[in-house]
Amino acid sequence: MRNTARIAQPTGLLTRRDFIRSAAVAGFGFSLTTPKVHAEPIPPAGPPLHILVLGAGAAGLVAGYELKKAGHRVTILEATLRPGGRVHTVREPFADGLYAEAGAARIPSTHSLTRDYAKQFGLRLAPYKPAGEKSLYYAAGRRVIAHSGQPVDLAPLGLSFTTEELRMGPNGLYDKYIARFSKDIGSIPGDAWPSPSLRKFGNQTIANLMASLGASPAAIQYLCAGYEDDSALDYLRDAYSHEAEELDHIVGGNDLLPRAFANALADQIHYGSPVIRIEQDTHSVRAVTRRAGQNIVVPADRMICTLPFSVLRHIAFAPRLPHGKQKAIDNLPYGSVTRIFLQYNRRFWLDEGCTGFADMLDLPMEVWSPSHDQPGHRGLHLGYLYERIAKKFAAFPKADRTTSFLNLMEKVYPGAKKHFEGGDSFVWNEQPFQRGAYAVYPKGTYDTLAPYVSQPEGRIHFAGEHTSPWPGWIQGALYSGLRAAREVVQA
Ligand SMILES: Cc1cc2nc3c(=O)[nH]c(=O)nc-3n(C[C@H](O)[C@H](O)[C@H](O)COP(=O)(O)OP(=O)(O)OC[C@H]3O[C@@H](n4cnc5c(N)ncnc54)[C@H](O)[C@@H]3O)c2cc1C
Repeated sequence: MRNTARIAQPTGLLTRRDFIRSAAVAGFGFSLTTPKVHAEPIPPAGPPLHILVLGAGAAGLVAGYELKKAGHRVTILEATLRPGGRVHTVREPFADGLYAEAGAARIPSTHSLTRDYAKQFGLRLAPYKPAGEKSLYYAAGRRVIAHSGQPVDLAPLGLSFTTEELRMGPNGLYDKYIARFSKDIGSIPGDAWPSPSLRKFGNQTIANLMASLGASPAAIQYLCAGYEDDSALDYLRDAYSHEAEELDHIVGGNDLLPRAFANALADQIHYGSPVIRIEQDTHSVRAVTRRAGQNIVVPADRMICTLPFSVLRHIAFAPRLPHGKQKAIDNLPYGSVTRIFLQYNRRFWLDEGCTGFADMLDLPMEVWSPSHDQPGHRGLHLGYLYERIAKKFAAFPKADRTTSFLNLMEKVYPGAKKHFEGGDSFVWNEQPFQRGAYAVYPKGTYDTLAPYVSQPEGRIHFAGEHTSPWPGWIQGALYSGLRAAREVVQA
């Protein structure tokens, strides 16, 4: 989940009503139906197989879970000591049981697969953001506080919006430049994604598409949030997920979902087992892993590899993979994200009727307050930093990241320094088993890389968010895990 987070702001730049209204006004022929996919068991087929799953993130866990239920023998190799991968709830070093998400945070109401599994495991969902009376917009030292449901006047922020864009306000900007396309593009079901008719969107950047519609540089900067070079297709597909009626989180932390899967797979998962080499021949497939300083070879009938390509490009295959596949593994770009967390002794933003969230118009970042539905009086700010600013903060010494972010927060929410207790940060580019946040598909890559990404190679099947029609979402990871599991039993 990335970039178009803009519309997930508290008053929602685009409310459900706006969404329907704008569609009617624009007169675009789209369907309000959502691409529904549901958690369906893998049908038992043939004799039980031994299936080796690489990675205990959402994709590997769902594949292992359903294959085990279908009667197969499953072994999961996970490099780290916990399940969940990029679904990672941070509970330390916060006081009073507070928590925040380093990775996946929002579960749209249209993500039926994610919600099905949350329901299966008895997990409770709640809005990731409070409705709130007021929303705060910020740019270059200036703030605008708007009452919910009232027109937002962005003029005081001093950005170079056109007169028409200022008149439209944030909702109108989104309607004009994004929503007119995202509805058609996003509602295409997973199996048909991306359809050939969408090719033109894959071969231009979102910034160019917006510029061709007359968008000002300020509007492009605001809506693209660092992802100007993303293909319009990738961006608009992602945008559709943000347009859902509800954006929820799992009460208690999103990691409760992977942990529930992992509880059901306790005997199948081997933690602390980084895979360093993958081999196959006509009879079997093998992963070589390091455990207690030794190489261990784990053979199986089939393999589901869910490792991000940013990691897989450093792992040797024997025999070598075909050129197209290796090219996709080597070249699929990953977005950069840094998360910064600040803890305060009280939720001082409530004093002026704000939610603690802020819409940053001239910086590729979002500001949230994940403590809004957690008990106690202490508060958290979370900075969701994208691309260039994610890299900039990542390059600072750790202590300077929180200090720099606190300095910014003091301008966004004056009083931050007075109430600040401490902070922490999480850099996705620095995680050895992630090396980036999520796959992005820039201009041209749907034609050149996408056809090879999910293609099986011999006994190796590929899953993970990057191989799915929902890159950057749990839904995509789950969808791909189920797709690969079906491939394995049908092979
Ligand atoms: C900052 C951020 C924000 C996000 N926001 C959202 C959101 O709001 N909503 C949403 O639905 N999704 C969101 N996502 C996306 C979501 O988290 C991912 O799409 C999903 O969790 C990916 O699952 P996966 O199984 O494909 O990969 P991963 O979760 O990365 O799982 C891969 C697993 O493989 C392991 N591994 C890696 N290398 C090796 C190796 N050599 N040997 C063995 N194991 C290895 C890793 O440790 C990991 O556990 C976000 C992600 C990030 C990073």
